[in-house]
Amino acid sequence: MSSRPDAPAESGTPRESGAPVTPGESGTSVAPADSAVPGGTEVPAVHLDEVEHVYAGAGGPVAALGPISLTVPPGTFLVLVGASGCGKSTLLRLIAGFEKPTSGTVRTGGAEPVPGRGAGIVFQQPRLFPWKTVGGNVELALRYAGVPRAERARRVPELLERVGLHDVAERRIWQISGGQQQRVAIARALAGDDPLLLLDEPFAALDALTRERLQEDLRRVSARTGRTSVFVTHSVEEAVFLGSRVVVLTRRPGRVALDLEVDLPRTGVEPDELRALPEYAALRAEIGHAVRAAAA
Ligand code: ADP
Ligand code: MG
Repeated sequence: MSSRPDAPAESGTPRESGAPVTPGESGTSVAPADSAVPGGTEVPAVHLDEVEHVYAGAGGPVAALGPISLTVPPGTFLVLVGASGCGKSTLLRLIAGFEKPTSGTVRTGGAEPVPGRGAGIVFQQPRLFPWKTVGGNVELALRYAGVPRAERARRVPELLERVGLHDVAERRIWQISGGQQQRVAIARALAGDDPLLLLDEPFAALDALTRERLQEDLRRVSARTGRTSVFVTHSVEEAVFLGSRVVVLTRRPGRVALDLEVDLPRTGVEPDELRALPEYAALRAEIGHAVRAAAA
């Protein structure tokens, strides 16, 4: 289903039926007519309506999230920022379909999310197969996505190239750095061509320099693929740099404290130029202020 400008069309690639085909990858709306939202022509990539989530904790119920409502158009790079414990991971798990909301509705591409379908996920820890090679890990993800063998042989180098790992394809996971491992995790999450990319503090365990490099690469990859992404962080800097939209959550139970479009160029600008823009500093100040107010 790939229709990205940087990837040739893959007609005949079997996809598991039911995996939603998304608008946004090619920048054109291909929303099925029967799932169009009232009053609009575009099916939101993610839609949360009055969602609340309460865990049955050992010491009594824990209200983790909401009520929260969010509509995320295809192609958005949404960053969720909030203090530890405010419900960010819970929100991602709801979008991934790993959890069902206690109340309210969650929709991805117009339908109830199905775990393991329709979203590539990157966690804080890369969760790779250490005995396999870098290429082998990506190959496995393609196999799970139903991509035929010949096609996989072509797409592994392409995906590794995209995350800057083409030189280490034959190395084992234990032979590469933490930053490189996280790149493998990103390549793997992109492999399925799922309409959604969900990232839960993927760079939190990395050193500052590596983290900055991966942010830069992810921003570039995201601009190229146009894939709808939901990225969780507690770093204001990371949010401003990566997001096309930033939502700041309150303390638990997380609700929307600030919802901001980030009107910064997504292509044709060097990372350092971007960080030096006055608008960049203004956004960082505004989001930083909201994060501190929400955590107070
Ligand atoms: P964040 O990712 O923002 O740090 P989480 O979504 O992980 O926050 O958790 C939100 C709140 O819900 C926290 O107080 C956490 O302790 C609680 N929580 C998370 N998972 C569970 C669970 N399975 N059972 C009980 N409480 C949980
Ligand atoms: Mg978390």
